[in-house]
Amino acid sequence: MTETMVTKPASQDLVQLSALTLPALQHLMEAWGQPKFRAKQVLDWRNKGILDPVEMKNIPEALRDRLSSSLMCQPLRLVRRECSRDGTRKYVFALNRPRLAGKMVEAVFIPEEKRGTVCISSQVGCVLDCPFCHTGTQGFEGNLSPGEIVAQVLMIKADLLHEPMTGDLHDGVTHIVYMGMGEPMANEEGVHGSLALLMDEDGLKLSRRRITVSTSGLIPQIDRLGQVHPVNLAISLHAAMDDKRNVLVPINRKYPLTQLRHCLDNYPLPTQRHITLEYVLLDGVNDQPEDIAALRRFVNPERERINLIQFNPYPGSPYRGTPKEHMSKFAQDLISKGIRATLRRSRGQDIMAACGQLKAETREVS
Ligand code: SF4
Repeated sequence: MTETMVTKPASQDLVQLSALTLPALQHLMEAWGQPKFRAKQVLDWRNKGILDPVEMKNIPEALRDRLSSSLMCQPLRLVRRECSRDGTRKYVFALNRPRLAGKMVEAVFIPEEKRGTVCISSQVGCVLDCPFCHTGTQGFEGNLSPGEIVAQVLMIKADLLHEPMTGDLHDGVTHIVYMGMGEPMANEEGVHGSLALLMDEDGLKLSRRRITVSTSGLIPQIDRLGQVHPVNLAISLHAAMDDKRNVLVPINRKYPLTQLRHCLDNYPLPTQRHITLEYVLLDGVNDQPEDIAALRRFVNPERERINLIQFNPYPGSPYRGTPKEHMSKFAQDLISKGIRATLRRSRGQDIMAACGQLKAETREVS
């Protein structure tokens, strides 16, 4: 199912409502001669996903107009929404800020019975170019701001308010994963800023245990993440031998596996949490007995588990996925060697929303 909804684009580079904290908004209200409590009222709407002041019913009209003209209330506009048979929804958003106006990013909502996970983008395109990744083929066009990253979550919340899930599927946002377009650790300003907003007591109040940042392995940035915002960590490993990983995850040439090992050993883990090692299985490439042996040498089973991912082909992709039976055998071989390994069920494949498939098909809209 495809739907098109277009909201008005903003024309100036203004402060984004999605990036404001309660003290900042209170300060603004005072400067505008408004009572302080209005700030909380506005944030309550914002936190539900209502970003258009027109819909903020208990706010006086004059203040709604001031909000609309003085802030960028809607940093993104929804261009398209696609719904998978399994309930997964993929959203294509266009950016409104002048420098990146019309550039598009994607986010995905993945509902399960007891949780609803939003997968968000941190960049337009990606600074890196992992050869199996659809996003990597797009090139890099810009970093998202904290407000643009958080706005993806807010707009999905609003969509779920207007059109809840059916059946047993959860229709709230309980978990966030930074696994959409882009390398989050190459946009530290946007990612740290958005993490603060997502965890803010007056914001979305998400626990750090419910947020996961996925990175291909930018080591100084991972160290800083652990110091400042020690959320769950996922690493795009995809090979445990330097020669193979140099090809599949080219950042490995800069930060090879020995450095990654040291970094992971020092990442602060909440109790009973693990670092997830993402491993997309590519037929004849990284699914051989030597790869099992290399994983056995690399993985610290006390602190890490492997998430085996089915490769999702995209048009023009040079790789094939490992056949399903061989994936199960690969998982069993790891488990028999004491390594926790799970096979991730691929979601939203029919709408190109599965892992590694995100790429805005059209670069710009006007
Ligand atoms: S796998 Fe991640 S880091 Fe690599 S190109 Fe794709 S989005 Fe970028």
